[in-house]
Order: sequence, then C-alpha cells, then structure tokens
Amino acid sequence: MSEQRISLEEFIEPARPAQRRSHQAQVRWGSRVVTIGGGAPVRVQSMTNTDTVDAIGTAIQVKELAIAGSEMVRITVNTPEAAEAVPHIREQLDRMGIDVPLIGDFHYNGHRLLTEHPACAEALSKYRINPGNVGKGDKRDRQFAQMVEAAAKFDKPVRIGVNWGSLDQELLAQLMDENAKLAEPHEPQQIMYRAIIMSAVESAHRAEEIGLRPEQIILSCKMSGVQDLVSVYRALAKRCDYPLHLGLTEAGMGTKGTVASTAALALLLQDGIGDTIRVSLTPQPGEARTQEVVVALEILQSLGLRSFNPSVTACPGCGRTTSTTFQELAKQIDDYLRAQMPVWKGKYPGVETMKVAVMGCIVNGPGESKHADIGISLPGTGEAPAAPVFIDGEKALTLRGDGIVQEFHRIVEDYVEKRFGAATAA
Ligand code: SF4
Repeated sequence: MSEQRISLEEFIEPARPAQRRSHQAQVRWGSRVVTIGGGAPVRVQSMTNTDTVDAIGTAIQVKELAIAGSEMVRITVNTPEAAEAVPHIREQLDRMGIDVPLIGDFHYNGHRLLTEHPACAEALSKYRINPGNVGKGDKRDRQFAQMVEAAAKFDKPVRIGVNWGSLDQELLAQLMDENAKLAEPHEPQQIMYRAIIMSAVESAHRAEEIGLRPEQIILSCKMSGVQDLVSVYRALAKRCDYPLHLGLTEAGMGTKGTVASTAALALLLQDGIGDTIRVSLTPQPGEARTQEVVVALEILQSLGLRSFNPSVTACPGCGRTTSTTFQELAKQIDDYLRAQMPVWKGKYPGVETMKVAVMGCIVNGPGESKHADIGISLPGTGEAPAAPVFIDGEKALTLRGDGIVQEFHRIVEDYVEKRFGAATAA
C-alpha cells in the first residue's frame, strides 16, 4: 500500500447542495407569507384528491396535508361549481385556524373561471397555468392573457406549469418540422425537451409583457422519467432566473413512486435546482394522502436542506441480533418523536434538529450512539442484557429490564427539556 499521504484539502471536499440564484416569489394568505426561491428554504407542496365541490371534505384534506407539513396545497378548479366552492373551502380553513395558502389548478377553462368567479380568484393565493391546456390556435394567446390578467388584477403569483403529458402540440409540431429540415436533425427526444422548456420560458416572458412582475412567476416542467426530468431542469435552470417547482409527474405507487421521486429530486436539489417540491404519489388502497408530504419532508431532511422532525438512526439488524426488540424500539422511538413534535415544535425551538440513535448490538451501537445527541445500544445475541445510553457523545447510564422503552422515552423527554427548553427560557 502506498505510503503517500492524502491531502485532506485536495481530496475530501464535503458535499453540500449548490445554490441557484433566482427571483423570490411570495405566496400569501392573511398574515402567512411563504417565500419561494431567492435563498428561501425549499418549500413543500401537495395536492388534494377530493372533489373540490365538496368544500367540507376538501377543507378537511387540506387541513390534514397542512398539519403533515405541506406549506401550500393545490386544489383542482375545473368547473364553475368547483370555483364557487373555493371561497367556502377558504372560509372553512380560516375557521379551523389553517392559514395554508391554496393554489388553484386550472386547465382548459381557467380563463373563464378566474374572470367569472372573482371570489375564487381572490380566495386562491396562487394560480397554476398549464400553457399546453389554455386553448388552441388564436384562442390560446387570448385565454392565456385572461388568466395572467386575473393574476395581475388580484396580485397573485402564478406557476406556469408545463407537463410533458399535455405539452403544447402546436409548438412541438413546429419544432419537429424545423428539425426535419436540418441537414443533420437532432434526436426527437431533444426536440421534445426543447419544446417543453420553450413553452415554459416563453409563456413566462409573455406573462411579463402582459403585466406580471418576474417575482410573480414560478416555472415547472414536469416529466415522468427520472433522466428526462433531470435533463430538462438542468437546461431550464440555465435559461431563466425564475424560481422552479420540482416534481416527477405520475411517479406511481408505493416504493416505486417514492424511490423514483427521491432519485430525481435528490439529483436536482443537490445541484441547487428546485425551490418548491411535490411528490406525486398515487396513494395505495387505504393509504393516507399525507404520505406524499411525509416523503417530501424526508427528502429535504435527508439531504440536509431542512429539518422537520428529530431523526432516528437505526441499524438494519443482522445475525448478531436475533430478536426484534431493537426494531420495535426503533419504531416506538420514531413514533414517539413524531407524536411529540406538534407539542415540542412550539415549546422547544430547534428540537427538529435532534439526532437519536437506536442500535442493535455492540459492533456499531456505541459508536453510532456517540455520534447522535442521544443514543441507545441494545444487547445483541449473547451480549449481557444491558443497554448503554449515550448523551452528547458520553455514556450516561445503562438500562436493564423490561421497561427499557419507557425509561428511554423519559430520558429523551428530559434531554429535550434541558437542551431545547433553555432556548425558550433564555
Ligand atoms: S449494529 Fe450490530 S446488530 Fe446492528 S447491523 Fe450492526 S452488527 Fe448488526
């Protein structure tokens, strides 16, 4: 083995997400202001799957999504009845003390709904406009302008959200024709990427000409393939200074949807690309809609971009631990921390950054526990039935017997009170 020493400065550069410069948009409701881009934290969005006409049902789901951590919630506004329901949803939320901004998702008839239902236009905090679905031929520009004029009149930001599933076919056909005439035509995939980006950027420029400030515009170009999404957003980020909303569209269900979304979003967020995110999961039967918010929060927290909940480091277990005690303990601790957070959040500022380790045996248990704020190393097979607890890197005590879980909860509660309660008292 070479004895040549490695220079730390030269070879080991800590990985950290890049920062992209963009305008800063503000999405408001009442006294609540959600800043997007321009150095603001990456925001979490979600979307309801209730019938918007059902104002109570929709308000309840918006509330659940907001409590789960969604900082803005999008709702479908697809009919005059849905537009009529929007102010009632807003009122219901306000009555429940939920000030999360609502985003209206418009396709095909948004120009009519926003102009004929001013109470809807007012109650929404942001409008999503899909330039591929605003109309065809000479109606397209007029109807797009009507939506943008509504945003200017009510002083709302818009997201110009292109989706490859509803890409402006006239623009795509025009670019394909031009490409076909070239001596060396490009791949059709590249033309499609170009059409998606052009549709977003040129629509944004048109919105500025009509009267929106750059700070009122957010862009997105959603695709359903990970490499497609990464390719398009990297190019889009170079082409404009607007904040970008990220999401892998139609990601799918369960593990597949979660992994595909995480892979795509992580690659882009690490490049500094993405100011708001949504994880478009198809709920599995019986699964809560809030799962998409849980995944979004975990992505941001795993990348070190934001902290929402104390993190639990748990080993996967192996042949050294034949009981499921540590798995159960890890789950109980995780559940306990999540259950405490609504109370702790207001009482103990900074508690969301706490790191807890729950480990299965002596091999990595003490070491990992020392790296955490508070950690427990359970006994593996054949080890003495004792669980050392480490606090701030030092072994503090050893737990024994049947009440380890409850005892560990008490120790965590004391730690939180002492460490994060001090900030409130100061
Ligand atoms: S800490 Fe122990 S039980 Fe857990 S994975 Fe490592 S060796 Fe296995």
